[in-house]
Amino acid sequence: MHFAADAMLGKLTRWLRLSGYDVYYSRSADDEELLNVAQREGRVLLTRDTTLAEKAKKLGTKVVLVESNSIEEQLIQLRRELGLSYEKTPAKALCPECNGEIVEVSKSEVSELVPPGVLEAHEEFYRCSQCGKVYWYGSHWRSITKRVVRIEGKVSSSEK
Ligand SMILES: [Zn+2]
Repeated sequence: MHFAADAMLGKLTRWLRLSGYDVYYSRSADDEELLNVAQREGRVLLTRDTTLAEKAKKLGTKVVLVESNSIEEQLIQLRRELGLSYEKTPAKALCPECNGEIVEVSKSEVSELVPPGVLEAHEEFYRCSQCGKVYWYGSHWRSITKRVVRIEGKVSSSEK
């Protein structure tokens, strides 16, 4: 499932990419452009804008009107409505910054690119094949994992 997100959904975009979902996002894209991209590439349009959501529906574009400003509520809504699941490891993630593919790289390949303390403390490194940003399974990923576990918990308790 691929998405096109409006400019208000930058944070959600990063979260979805981290979970491996391909998301078109551009701060400068206007409504027309978003609708075009969604239709042309078969993407589900994600928007906070009721007018845009109505327009998309009329055009027959699949759209989700995102109800909340809270990232957790947003992820829960998409899980409920579209059955999304959120990955807990970097291996299947897309780059949150640019939507590029992330590949595992060796320690020596990133030795010049990450702080020495990080290099010493971690064994697994990943790099975006598009923008070159380096990722590792450290505290950031652990906090993502915690949040995902919390979201999964909320969803399953509300389904009872
Ligand atoms: Zn990237």
